[in-house]
Amino acid sequence: MSTNCKTEGGVDTPAEPRSSNFIRDIILDDLKANKYAGQVQTRFPPEPNGYLHIGHAKAICLDFGLADEFGGRTNLRFDDTNPSKEETEYVDSIMADVRWLGFEWDGLFYASDYFDQLYAWAVQLIQAGKAYVCDLSAEEIRQHRGTLTQPGKDSPYRNRPAAENLDLFARMRGGEFPDGSRTLRAKIDMASPNLNLRDPVMYRILRAEHHRTGNKWCIYPMYDYAHGQSDSIERITHSMCTLEFEDHRPLYNWFIQHLGIFPSQQIEFDRLNLTYTLLSKRKLLQLVEEGRVNGWDDPRMPTISGIRRRGYTPEAVRNFCGAIGVSKTHGSIELAMLEHFVREDLNKRAPLVMAVLRPLKVVIDNYPENQVEEMDAVNNPEDASAGTRKAPFSQVLYIEQDDFREDPPKQYYRLSPGREVRLRYGYLITCTSVVKNEQGEVVEVHCTYDPATRGGNTPDGRKVKATIHWVSAAHAVEAEVRLYETLFTQEDPNQLPEGQDFTANLNPNSLERLTRCKLEPSLANAAVGSRYQFERLGYFCVDPASGPGKLVFNRTVALKDTWAKIEKGQRGKN
Ligand code: ATP
Ligand code: MG
Repeated sequence: MSTNCKTEGGVDTPAEPRSSNFIRDIILDDLKANKYAGQVQTRFPPEPNGYLHIGHAKAICLDFGLADEFGGRTNLRFDDTNPSKEETEYVDSIMADVRWLGFEWDGLFYASDYFDQLYAWAVQLIQAGKAYVCDLSAEEIRQHRGTLTQPGKDSPYRNRPAAENLDLFARMRGGEFPDGSRTLRAKIDMASPNLNLRDPVMYRILRAEHHRTGNKWCIYPMYDYAHGQSDSIERITHSMCTLEFEDHRPLYNWFIQHLGIFPSQQIEFDRLNLTYTLLSKRKLLQLVEEGRVNGWDDPRMPTISGIRRRGYTPEAVRNFCGAIGVSKTHGSIELAMLEHFVREDLNKRAPLVMAVLRPLKVVIDNYPENQVEEMDAVNNPEDASAGTRKAPFSQVLYIEQDDFREDPPKQYYRLSPGREVRLRYGYLITCTSVVKNEQGEVVEVHCTYDPATRGGNTPDGRKVKATIHWVSAAHAVEAEVRLYETLFTQEDPNQLPEGQDFTANLNPNSLERLTRCKLEPSLANAAVGSRYQFERLGYFCVDPASGPGKLVFNRTVALKDTWAKIEKGQRGKN
């Protein structure tokens, strides 16, 4: 499937799809040619400057999935070359998220493990006349750099003798110079059409405490100087990364070649973009810091911790990542496609229960006042072995406000005055009258039931068009239920009116909290993280904010609501 796919229709989903892709083909060819002595060694290299998101899941599934398939190994490596933005909290969350997705790394490394080696290699490049200490400021380096159409200008320090460079570099490390006053640069080609090769900076002076090396260093390697060599040190055979690094590959290869070290092969693929979603740690951090969401694991966030809290399953995410595949062109995937895989997986595993989110009281006038019947309710229509449970039925019930209309529009078949409907696993009831409050709103619906229809059957074969769910009022447990819409209103949240930032596209209705929802009593002790299908409403998951006597559910994903579509269609015609 191409990543440009914009619809979820007709998606084929074998349990763990292993469709081929161009990266897999490269690995197959390399194995055939015995290129790395039959080895496949990959790595997932996050920078610990934020929480992982669903885009990272794509990279993780690729890195771990391909190595697994070919009996290879995968390292988790933290690319921690930027001390000012990195934190241990992020390291911990990243490890938890990779494991949650179902993967276990072979080696656990940090680019900072290699700081000594990288320093030694920098000295080696200086000695070989391939690197020099430059006294230009960051701004001057930018000015010298040229543009895509204009070659750059050589730094006046470019031809310093090696001995002077060695001395200055050692003194940079020794803390003799202020932050930003000097850099170490690779001596490549200021006229290269590839800007990354115009004497890129390898080291900068930066007095910042590092989450692992503390204050040992006051110079730090640039990402571009550290990344390729880190791959090489770990003898990574296939180093997968996103397309924006394509132009950096010649630089990584230049370092590898001039150092004469293990030649890791970098292969680029397209970043995941999802409609109505932003996948950028920087922007997600902004949402967290500005309090636009309730932390990195807010269920509206596209972070792994957010979708986990929301109730997505790792299987659903892996199946989605398998189905979208990889390509060399940028595209955007419909959020609906991800939701499709979530529904498909939850449909198999989430027990079915009854819950009423917006309760409307129903009184069955001819039902004995103190009688309670235990109705057999099916736990999972997809899986007979999941068995049945008892759902108590009594005179006073709750149904959804939506399942009653005093003046039913055409094609509305649920409860309304004089209309008979089936209560799931219960009886057929007919509405006889309503009670209204002072504002004229219906607050109570009175009905009669037909005792011959226990279990929802009609011995005389008469048909009713609607079956609705319910909860016995006396037995219900109360819960808060949080409903979510997309975090952004625009399909492309980066599409903005002049002069506004992406937060202008935030959806003010992305969270709706319903309190006093009524759930069937079997949910009284539902564990945090457990997932259910609420009949006719969607898939829900118990939020960690739950505690003894306090249940909070998140709606993971709604079912497709055919009525909402009809109603929308009718509105469209008027
Ligand atoms: P962001 O732009 O969100 O900060 P990043 O690329 O800076 O992401 P890293 O921590 O450097 O984040 O990413 C680790 C790995 O995950 C890299 O190999 C990167 O290419 C990959 N990756 C990041 N975002 C995506 C995405 N949207 N789709 C696929 N892979 C991604
Ligand atoms: Mg990055």
